[in-house]
Amino acid sequence: MKKLSIAIDGPAGAGKSSVSKILAARLGYAYLDTGAMYRAVTYEALERKLTDDDAIADMAAKLDMEVIPKEDTMHVIVDGKDVTPFIRTPEVSSHVSAVSAIAGVRSAMTAIQRKLGEKGGIVLDGRDIGTTVLPHADVKIFLTASVHTRAIRRFKELTEGHPDMTMEDVEKEISRRDYLDSHREISPLKQADDAVLLDNGDLTLEGTAEAIIAICRKKFPDFA
Ligand code: C5P
Repeated sequence: MKKLSIAIDGPAGAGKSSVSKILAARLGYAYLDTGAMYRAVTYEALERKLTDDDAIADMAAKLDMEVIPKEDTMHVIVDGKDVTPFIRTPEVSSHVSAVSAIAGVRSAMTAIQRKLGEKGGIVLDGRDIGTTVLPHADVKIFLTASVHTRAIRRFKELTEGHPDMTMEDVEKEISRRDYLDSHREISPLKQADDAVLLDNGDLTLEGTAEAIIAICRKKFPDFA
């Protein structure tokens, strides 16, 4: 059985990265968190105080970006510095949709993602993997849950580092990001025509991974 490319797209807080990590570990596949890449570009733009779209696109095209899978998560190295600890702050989260809507930023990130994804044996999570990055991915999942369920999950993750954030703040931020991500001009967040819709509101992360494996088996009977 050849190694598959598995695309997992969906809105914020659907559990894409946690589930992708479980799947990759179980299958012995690589894992690419494409959101972390857009977050790293956003972090760099904020650090360099860039506000102009062309300047941010120019920076993204020149960045030396490396992604390294580690035990805890996928690490993003930018120009030799591990920026992973800084990319999930509320500040980066509130700017990332605007930065990732810039055409030059998307083309730079998509090129790296395609190169890694085309080889197969990989789980990629993002917003446009099945529609744009790997339109021929072997298996495409659109993972979602209600805004409220997703906000509860994100709230649990966030409050450790940011006890000042309320559940309402998190729900508003998620809805805002979903809106921006699905209404942008280039590669908006959207279910690919051939993606399987999976609502994991009632599933654990393990249960979601199992459901995805079942979807892979249905399409490729000799899979794992
Ligand atoms: O997945 P995560 O929530 O970390 O993604 C952060 C942001 O990066 C998204 O809200 C979206 O704006 C952007 N993104 C994107 N395309 C992807 C992955 C993420 O535009 N493939």
